[in-house]
Amino acid sequence: MTEPDGPGVLADLARGLSDSSIITDPEILDSYRRDQAGLVDAGMPLAAVRPRTSDDVRQLLRIASGHRVPVVPRGAGSGLSGGANAVDGSLILSMTGMDRIIELDTASLLAVVEPGLINADLSKAVGELGLWYPPDPASADFSTIGGNIATNAGGLCCVKYGVTGDFVLGLEVALADGTLLRTGRRTIKGVAGYDLTGLFVGSEGTLGVITQATLRLRPAPPAPSTLVAFFADLPAAGTAIAEIAAGVVPSALELMDRATVRAVEGWKRLDLDVEAAAMLIGRSDAGGPEGAAEIERMTRACRSSGATFVATSTDAMEADLLMTARRLALTALEHLGTVLLDDVAVPIGRIPDLLRSIEEIADRHTVLIGTFGHAGDGNMHPTIVFDQRDPDAVARARSAFEAIVGVALELGGTITGEHGVGLLKKPFLPQEIGEPGLEAHRRIRRALDPLGILNPGKVL
Ligand SMILES: Cc1cc2nc3c(=O)[nH]c(=O)nc-3n(C[C@H](O)[C@H](O)[C@H](O)COP(=O)(O)OP(=O)(O)OC[C@H]3O[C@@H](n4cnc5c(N)ncnc54)[C@H](O)[C@@H]3O)c2cc1C
Repeated sequence: MTEPDGPGVLADLARGLSDSSIITDPEILDSYRRDQAGLVDAGMPLAAVRPRTSDDVRQLLRIASGHRVPVVPRGAGSGLSGGANAVDGSLILSMTGMDRIIELDTASLLAVVEPGLINADLSKAVGELGLWYPPDPASADFSTIGGNIATNAGGLCCVKYGVTGDFVLGLEVALADGTLLRTGRRTIKGVAGYDLTGLFVGSEGTLGVITQATLRLRPAPPAPSTLVAFFADLPAAGTAIAEIAAGVVPSALELMDRATVRAVEGWKRLDLDVEAAAMLIGRSDAGGPEGAAEIERMTRACRSSGATFVATSTDAMEADLLMTARRLALTALEHLGTVLLDDVAVPIGRIPDLLRSIEEIADRHTVLIGTFGHAGDGNMHPTIVFDQRDPDAVARARSAFEAIVGVALELGGTITGEHGVGLLKKPFLPQEIGEPGLEAHRRIRRALDPLGILNPGKVL
């Protein structure tokens, strides 16, 4: 293959792009090198380019292909797997300048948006029309729709409403050679051809650059009722989660263990019970008698599993405070040290086993693990807190991380529930999908990006 031609590409970009900023200042470039993942490498990019139009994205890809220069698509850089980390000599394609809402069709319940739009900005805009865009990663206030689609982000309401991909009807994607591909449709149903939209959802910038998305909306649900329960041991909370899931579909079901609750309380003082082993927050947005019945069933499941305290709230401020505590979990743990955040998911019935194993792993490796996550869909974030200056602590953190991934697979789960493979989970992908799975991935990638310029080294 021809060698990448850095200087040539910059000259051509300066000539060929009509509405983009090109950043080469090393100090500014440094802020484009990494996402939020710990313990993974990042290269030094050649430049960061911030286009404003699909045409400029196509043109950039054509020029990069011509010079064999790698391109790393990037949203807000809030990813937790190293997926947006720079590759040496690459162009960082920052999509944050393409952040317009192109269309809101209230009759057909859909939105057409650019990929750099912040998730919460879309929610706010559709909320003003009485509509709702459900995908709600805890990073909704700062992550982009393009990044959410490229990682198939999950969130708090997935347990009832599904993940980002369930709300993507169609995409406009710029392929590695600059071809503009439109996938999907504006209709709810439609089976013409292969599901190319699904192919790009969760593709982590390795198959194409999302330049526009047609998203499905819903009418806003009634205000939720919220339940909070505390447990004296972690597996009891796991049993409650499995029991709740067997009888109700909550609109959210989130767990925080003692280490996480203490980290949040130590930082923000929300009056949470810091002695309990676990705190569970359940929500129903069914409204009226159905909502009350769902909360009642969740309460019974918590009590019969040994909850030491259960309370319900319809007070919006009180309930929001509990959800805020959950959203602060990761940042609060980061105040305790360097964190290595895991993201595994298991079938819901195996959650008690997962929680038990995480406690054993923490003991065995003498590490602090704060576990929190989207309990209702079996997606947990065991977060290892360690001292990065101590090589022994780093080694123990790494082996605890590997052990957790191994347990998730043994329990019939997955190495990543929502954060993606990127660099962090790349070593574990073969274990989950096997050689035929890897080869199918390689062939798809080669078919769409024969020169291998898109986010090389990521995923596989
Ligand atoms: C505090 C915190 C809480 C979080 N909570 C959640 C959560 O609840 N659920 C969850 O799923 N994640 C969560 N995340 C992780 C992260 O926010 C998500 O992965 C998010 O979807 C990434 O969006 P981004 O815009 O930051 O994308 P980036 O991090 O910039 O990129 C992510 C990946 O998408 C690719 N990409 C970005 N834009 C495009 C595009 N236009 N076309 C093609 N590829 C593209 C990149 O190459 C990269 O591989 C959290 C992160 C933080 C820091």
